[in-house]
Amino acid sequence: MVTQPDLVVVGSGFFGLTLAERCAAELDLKVLILERRPHIGGNAYSEFDAETGIEVHKYGTHLFHTSNERVWEYVNRFTAFTNYQHKVFGKFKGQVYSLPMNLALINSFFGKSHTPDEARALIAEQASEISTEDAKNLEEKAISLIGRPLYEAFIKGYTAKQWQTDPTELSAEIITRLPVRYNFDNRYFNDKYEGLPVDGYTAWLQRMADHPNIEVRLNVDFLDPEVNAEFKGKVPIVYTGPVDEYFGNSEGRLSWRTVDLEQEILPVDDYQGTGVVNANDPEVPFTRELEFRHLHPEREASYTKGKTLVVREYSRFAEADDEPYYPINTAEDREKLLKYRDLANKEPMVLFGGRLGTYKYLDMHMAIASALSMYDNKVKPHFADGAEFKSGGVDA
Ligand code: FAD
Ligand code: UDP
Repeated sequence: MVTQPDLVVVGSGFFGLTLAERCAAELDLKVLILERRPHIGGNAYSEFDAETGIEVHKYGTHLFHTSNERVWEYVNRFTAFTNYQHKVFGKFKGQVYSLPMNLALINSFFGKSHTPDEARALIAEQASEISTEDAKNLEEKAISLIGRPLYEAFIKGYTAKQWQTDPTELSAEIITRLPVRYNFDNRYFNDKYEGLPVDGYTAWLQRMADHPNIEVRLNVDFLDPEVNAEFKGKVPIVYTGPVDEYFGNSEGRLSWRTVDLEQEILPVDDYQGTGVVNANDPEVPFTRELEFRHLHPEREASYTKGKTLVVREYSRFAEADDEPYYPINTAEDREKLLKYRDLANKEPMVLFGGRLGTYKYLDMHMAIASALSMYDNKVKPHFADGAEFKSGGVDA
């Protein structure tokens, strides 16, 4: 139990845990973590399902990948990783294709074998209807990069479902680069390091918090007036909750997409033969199906025979009480965010970080890297040398 904390961290996701761990282990500070959920770990949290023995990522599949040497060295202090390499497939009109777009997809979609050069020429011809420089929206940009047939099959329906907006009304920026590989490489990520935590995400997250200088209080909302009054202005705070909520939504709510996850146990050993299958047909209401057993083939012997666990993802705009998952980032959001950044920079003794505190989509390795850099640039200089504990460019 930490009495008189030197630092309060709000939120126990990867950002908050990394910061707390560094301060506790390297600076010997007493750190109190406040978490409003009933568990630690933020969105990376997972549980082993009692009926099947399968690890379920409770907030959607989390695949760890990074090319950042410092992050890789750091995360390996808390967990070993399997050699899992993520592959994604996409279902369209009763056929399954290998994503991201590659020679296997092009050959099966057009029903013919192509050499890499033949495929390149085919896509260039199909994409020639619009020039990339003239593309005014997501649809035009995508067609200018991959051509209309592939766009209509794999992008149009999926994107409309995921963003609940017609692709002609979405910004061209969303699809800055649509990779087409003219070979059979179907690894989803290009990073140097990739894998899944051997004992699961929660064991990894718990090890980060397992330090005598760290206390985690669950089910505590920092924005609860009583809690707020106890700590605000009295102790340095790193806040990783939503920046708009911190300021009582004074500049308006920032918009987010959320995902509804529908979990089902099916009476078969194997439902789809792989971890993730996108539903590219527009009439299928969900965006993808996740079958978690395939993320850990090395655990097959421990799973219940004759059962598997499948999760379907449905994407929609987040309302006030929903979990915010992906920042929508409209022009209006960006305007509000600038105002919140000004407020954050003026807030004494509070640093804002993480994906909710900065309104940025951050992969796990990015959240960890960003926390390490806040530690180096703001937190350590304060505690070691008396530098001011203050934001400036949010988590910059
Ligand atoms: P979070 O994990 O969101 O943690 C913030 C914590 O703060 C939460 O636990 C929240 O309850 C708590 N909190 C908020 N407000 C308060 C308050 N007022 N008081 C107390 N506590 C509060 N990344 C990858 O690298 N690979 C993937 O495959 C991947 N898949 C993803 C899939 C989905 C559907 C989503 C949504 C994200 C995915 N991510 C993935 C991103 C990953 O989840 C983030 O990188 C990570 O969550 C960032 O950590 P964080 O600490 O910034 O935020
Ligand atoms: N996308 C698509 N079809 C697919 C997969 C992706 O149109 O089969 C588009 C879609 O607009 C999506 C974006 O690419 O929002 C990024 O997809 P990705 O799967 O990389 O991101 P995730 O949704 O998993 O974060």
